[in-house]
Amino acid sequence: MSTQPVMNTYSRFSVAFDHGEGCWLFDTDGNKYLDALSGIAVCGLGHAHPAVTTAISEQASQLIHTSNLYTIPLQEQLAQRLTQISGMDSVFFGNSGAEANEAAIKLARRYGHQKGIDLPVTIVMDGSFHGRTMATLSATGNRAVQAGFEPLVSGFVRAPYNDVEAIRTIASNNPNVVAILVEPVQGEGGVVIPADDYLNQLRDICDQNEWLLMLDEVQTGNGRTGSYFAYQQNNILPDVVTTAKGLGNGVPIGACLARGKAAEVLSPGTHGSTYGGNPLCCAAALAVVDTISNEKLDQRAKQLGDTITNGFRDQIGDASYVKEIRNKGLMIAIELSEAGSELAVLSKVKGVLLNITGGGKVVRMLPPLIMSDSEAELLVNTVSRIIKVYMADE
Ligand SMILES: *Cc1c(COP(=O)(O)O)cnc(C)c1O
Repeated sequence: MSTQPVMNTYSRFSVAFDHGEGCWLFDTDGNKYLDALSGIAVCGLGHAHPAVTTAISEQASQLIHTSNLYTIPLQEQLAQRLTQISGMDSVFFGNSGAEANEAAIKLARRYGHQKGIDLPVTIVMDGSFHGRTMATLSATGNRAVQAGFEPLVSGFVRAPYNDVEAIRTIASNNPNVVAILVEPVQGEGGVVIPADDYLNQLRDICDQNEWLLMLDEVQTGNGRTGSYFAYQQNNILPDVVTTAKGLGNGVPIGACLARGKAAEVLSPGTHGSTYGGNPLCCAAALAVVDTISNEKLDQRAKQLGDTITNGFRDQIGDASYVKEIRNKGLMIAIELSEAGSELAVLSKVKGVLLNITGGGKVVRMLPPLIMSDSEAELLVNTVSRIIKVYMADE
């Protein structure tokens, strides 16, 4: 029998890390790696950031958990900071991106019921990723995530991403729609960046139909795309925003933010989470939010992302095997004309961590927001060289 004690849900690299510092991870053999993935957009402040470390250790020595049966001042403080930054009115805290989206999906359904729609429908997009729980995988636009888990949760209709006309068609045909759930940039889908005014158009359609505009900023939030939340570059306000990943810098926390009528939908007894927003996670997240704001790391993400992307364009932009190089802040993609699944392994051997998405053709980088100019240069030079050698050899 080859059954492993950890259930076999990931095909993992054999490397194990035992500590990290800034943009660097060190494995158990003492090798170091430039982390251009940040634990999948989680460690935006890099590893062992002093503000986060201090917040966690001080809070851990004082109080970790009390439950939501009692007032949690740190949760209120964090909600206050997040609503200030986002323009939303109130926040529900959970422990992950999927949970944040579950809250949004439930909120939309209840909003529908309050409007007298018994079987409310949420519009979701092809190529999207919203999580691995039953409702969020049903909302996800990737058959590989759903296959084998039928029956799926009903109440979703799907439209192509970045296609406003398709949404208008659904609007005129389906009276049960109550909300749109959409990522400002599709992360797991391969760093797919829609038209600049896509969210503005969706906002208009939602206003015309009294739908909720719900943005999944689990990956795009917390400074990654060049503003605290990506929608802030569109000068709109959604009705619901979810975030997680970068919010805790590795401490599990997710948030569902809501505004106006959407903020009034959930009431005592309608939703909950035992751990959600406990003192430890909120202390960590407060340190993260304050560091991003005080150091304007969102602006740094924009500048650094553009510099890295232009560096790649200079070095490999004209190569026949490069289809497109694109970014929104520090969500960076090199789309190849053919699959390059081996590139994650090769770059790990050369000491750089990144990953491959988009059907094996998209080299994705999500570097920490604190990356220095010289580390960025090292990233561009190393990854360009690896792609050149690998793709030219094929
Ligand atoms: C990662 C991700 C999720 C799921 O987050 P988990 O914390 O893994 O549950 C949801 N939506 C988007 C856009 C993501 O990138």
